[in-house]
Order: sequence, then structure tokens, then C-alpha cells
Amino acid sequence: MSRFLSERFSNIEPYTPGEQPKVSNLIKLNTNESPFPPSPKVIEALNNEELSKLNLYSDPDTKEVIDAIAKTFGVSSNQILMGNGSDEILAFAFQAFCDKVNEPCFADITYGFYPVFCELYGLEPEIIPLKDDLSIGIKDYIGKNKPIFIANPNAPTGLALSLTDIEKILESNKDSVVLIDEAYVDFGAESAVSLVDKYDNLIVSRTFSKSRNLAGARIGFAISTPELIADMCKMKFSFNPYNLNRLSIIAGKESVLDTEYFNRCISEIISNREYTVNELTKRGFTIPDSKANFIFAKHNTLSGEEYFNELRKRNIVVRYFSKERIKDYVRITIGSIEQMKALIEATDEILKG
Ligand code: PMP
Repeated sequence: MSRFLSERFSNIEPYTPGEQPKVSNLIKLNTNESPFPPSPKVIEALNNEELSKLNLYSDPDTKEVIDAIAKTFGVSSNQILMGNGSDEILAFAFQAFCDKVNEPCFADITYGFYPVFCELYGLEPEIIPLKDDLSIGIKDYIGKNKPIFIANPNAPTGLALSLTDIEKILESNKDSVVLIDEAYVDFGAESAVSLVDKYDNLIVSRTFSKSRNLAGARIGFAISTPELIADMCKMKFSFNPYNLNRLSIIAGKESVLDTEYFNRCISEIISNREYTVNELTKRGFTIPDSKANFIFAKHNTLSGEEYFNELRKRNIVVRYFSKERIKDYVRITIGSIEQMKALIEATDEILKG
């Protein structure tokens, strides 16, 4: 730290992203990326003609991708805001809707970036513990009357709330913003997008990083009311008007229009998830019912840390969190079937000792 850093950031503990190892022979199951390439339509569209236009700024209104998303999701274009990843959407929301009188609340075990945004913006969140089975207790969110952030499915548990439960939360918090972070929703959970015209306090955030195979393009978006979108847009235009680059605008548009490829990738991930859950369960693992492209697994004798380390020795990288309530678990991204078979093989070797 230099002597110039503003005092208010001196104690901030930044978000630690999962490792992005440089070596190529690893099976990388640690950051919930897709094992599949982007849609062939995306690859085709990112051609030399588009590359040669990189001397020009991108469209600050990101119109092409917004119109394609609006068409796909059946909402109006003024109900969408693009972010540089959904992390940026979250940043806009914490910044726009939280302050000393509107302190946010979220679960103790959830996406690790929420508390970091709170530190960055000087907020003091209320932390709501998950239930013993690691599910979200709906009752804990009824009548909170403060901004609520819920990842659905939750990370790193993979557990999802039903739309009925989300609606109960919205219904009882009509004067506060409720953000439903649907980074993983496409892998089997119910989306709250259908509720945005019914509740004027709902923001749904989405990403192209997981189910659209575009983590490296950094594309996220929010769907909400035109008014809440306008508020977050204010944040964007006060910070980085060209937040999506030219290539990502094109990639996003082509990807969202290629429904067939999207559906194919999703069903393969879901089937690989079922395979992995079955195989690991047979070997003594307990796994909450995941609706995401990862599973959260705990073994009855092997510790989470040891499993993580032993897999690493065998060139398989998963994610381990040393946090008290979840230190017995590892989070495993669902990859291709070959990758999952290699994981099971390595697990057998580890369990044999
Ligand atoms: N929400 C959740 C719950 C996540 O796990 C992630 C991925 N780290 C994000 C949002 C952000 O993803 P991205 O910025 O790549 O869209």
C-alpha cells in the first residue's frame, strides 16, 4: 500500500477471484465457466471487419445487444441495462440504492462480492445466516424493508428458491429494492424476470459468463422497471459510459439470438451435473440439490481441504472456501463429460488412499 491511498480504502479486503492458472494441462473446475466455446455465430461475427473498427468507441447505449435481449426475454429495451459482467450491475445497484439509511441485507453464505461492494461503498450490511441445511430461510426476509440481495440459485450452495418464495419476499418489501442475482438461473431454477412488470422494486441481474459461454467477454445485464434501470444508468454514465466494448456488444447479440446452441449447452451441463452428483453420492459425498453449473460437495470422512489439495496434485482445480460454516465442502464446476469422468477417477484414487 502506498502512502497515497485514501484512508477510507486502507482496510478494504478485495474480492479474490478463483485461480486462472497459466498451465494448459489442468482440468479447470474452479470458476464456474462453461467448458464449451461461445456460439459459432459469435465466433463468425467477430471478424476482421469488426476488429478494424476498434479505433472507434463502442455504442454507449449498447443498443444492438439490448434489443436482442429485449426480444428474447419479451421486455422493452428501456427495461435493460448492460454491465461489464454482472459484477458491474451489482456495483451499480449497491451504489444507487444503498446508503446509511438503506443498508443492504444478504445471506452469510452467498456470493463473496456482496460484502466487498459494501466495504467499497461504506455500507454496513445486515448478514442473514442460511438455515442449517444451507438453504435460505424465507421468513428471515419478510418485511425487512431494506435493500435485499439474493443469489438465486445461491452460490456456492447451488440451492434455488421457488418463484413463489421470491414473490413472498417482494410482496413484503414493497418499499425496498430486491435484487435477484440470476447468474446461474439457466441451469434449472425459475427466473424472476416474469415478475418485473408486477413489482416496481425488483431488479434481476443476469450474466453471459456461465450459460452463454462468454466469461471472457464480460457481459452482464439487468432487467427491471424503466425507472430502476434509469437510476442504474445514471451510475454507469457517471463512471464508464462505454462499459461494453464493441466486440462484446456483437458477441452478446449473436449469443442471445442463438437459442438452439444455448439449449444444447445447457442440457449437456445438466446431464453432466446429474452424472457427477450420482457418482459422488455413491462414494460418500453429500450434495445439496444444485440448480447451477456447479455442485457443493462434502465427504463423510475426507476433509474439504484435503480433497481440494489431492485433486490439485492430480491437475484438477476446484474451489475451496476456508469459511467456518462451509469449510468441509468443495465447489466443483460442471465441465464436459470427459472432465467429470476424470474427476471421478481421481476421486476414486484419493479415496483409496
Ligand atoms: N453473481 C454470482 C452469484 C456469481 O457467482 C458471479 C460469478 N463470479 C457473478 C454474479 C458475476 O459474474 P460476471 O461478472 O462474470 O457476470
